Amino acid sequence: MDRRSALPAVGRLSEALAAARPDLPGWARSEGARRAIARARAALDADPEAAADPAAIEAEAVRNAVELSRPHPGRVVNATGVVLHTNLGRAVLAPEAARAAAQAGACYGDLELDLASGARGNRQRAVREKLVLLSGAEAALAVNNNAAAVLLALDTLARGREVIVSRGELVEIGGSFRVPEILERAGVRLVEVGTTNRTHPRDYENAIGAETALLLKVHRSNFEQSGFVAEVGIETLAGIARAHGLPLVEDLGSGTLLSLADPELPPEALAPARLGLGADLVCFSGDKLLGGPQAGIVLGARAIVDAMAANPLARALRLDKMGLAALDATLRLLLDSGADAPLPTLRGLAADVEALRPRAEKLALRLGQAVADAAHVSAEPDRSTVGGGSLPGWELDTWVVALRGGPGPDALAGRLREAPVPVVGRIRDDALLLDVRTLLDGDEERIERALVEAFGRGD
Ligand SMILES: *Cc1c(COP(=O)(O)O)cnc(C)c1O
Repeated sequence: MDRRSALPAVGRLSEALAAARPDLPGWARSEGARRAIARARAALDADPEAAADPAAIEAEAVRNAVELSRPHPGRVVNATGVVLHTNLGRAVLAPEAARAAAQAGACYGDLELDLASGARGNRQRAVREKLVLLSGAEAALAVNNNAAAVLLALDTLARGREVIVSRGELVEIGGSFRVPEILERAGVRLVEVGTTNRTHPRDYENAIGAETALLLKVHRSNFEQSGFVAEVGIETLAGIARAHGLPLVEDLGSGTLLSLADPELPPEALAPARLGLGADLVCFSGDKLLGGPQAGIVLGARAIVDAMAANPLARALRLDKMGLAALDATLRLLLDSGADAPLPTLRGLAADVEALRPRAEKLALRLGQAVADAAHVSAEPDRSTVGGGSLPGWELDTWVVALRGGPGPDALAGRLREAPVPVVGRIRDDALLLDVRTLLDGDEERIERALVEAFGRGD
């Protein structure tokens, strides 16, 4: 009990924090103090020899309060070179799209008002039109994300019935999206065909029965298969589906609407082409290769898309007005300028390695001066992946700034993550690499500041 009486009271510690850190909000100071004291009390209870350290408790309370009050998600510098980084929020919106989202949030809008008649309007009208114009699909729809699009397609077309999927395509994307589980949640009976590495047309043929609702093809977005492998291509699968009067649905994961000349994208990423090859419905994410906001884009046969839009579940999976506004603006840019559209995702993928080189050299010079002799800094060629569970095995030539020496790559990476604007790079062997492919305007300055601070902390 004596040792416990040395613990500060929450009110007293909060007051001390208010004097020391008036910049932190009151609610964060008191919760930060409460948590620090609770932890110190638990430490005393666990160890009869321990004594309370008021200075350490106050320091922890401040750290807690800072962490509690930090905006989330906050800005970070993506120096990983991974253009679509799942942990860093995937696609960066074009400024026009970000502005459209901010305006939709900050103002009243004609979201569901037909201005000509004054009657109720359709919130999806503009994006559905633009998606059709860009893709040539019969019909289109946008929902909350691609997982929602898959769920809605299955619920609409196959609830209580069977869906046939190759065992080579029962994938897990980013931990929480697993094809077998989403099928189960949609109330669909999964019929697995083929083996992990090989699936043949006859496997699908043999599995089709009276209960079959559709054939599902899933893009292996985050891994590649090589060696003794066989999968049934979309054209052959479409032939089988048609012969049995069944719809063919493809979960493309990361689709685009326009082909890029440079770099050339894998052909399966082009969603309209998948419809041309015989898929009745394709769905993909808005915030992967498309370069827009989080959304699930659905393209395909009018009867199916309209049935999905009319499904009561569509309401639960709908896109919010800010996402809708950002998607509309992104599609508008694609209609205006095609593959030259000023979308950070497209520009990041298309960035020419010869243009990245001087940027890396300039940054290396700047950082070299900033850290003086504390580390070795050099510009080097390297390869970066596209990421975001998008195009497995697809890499791009790039340029990086390599930092060697100092506290070592892991410790340095940790310190850069604690900067006011955290910087995230990638580690290779003994070096921390900062890839200039994914830097946004002004990031050089942010990196320099983070690095100076990291080295200022003594090592
Ligand atoms: C990314 C991905 C998903 C999930 O998409 P979200 O937009 O994140 O919901 C589903 N299927 C495939 C094949 C994917 O690549």
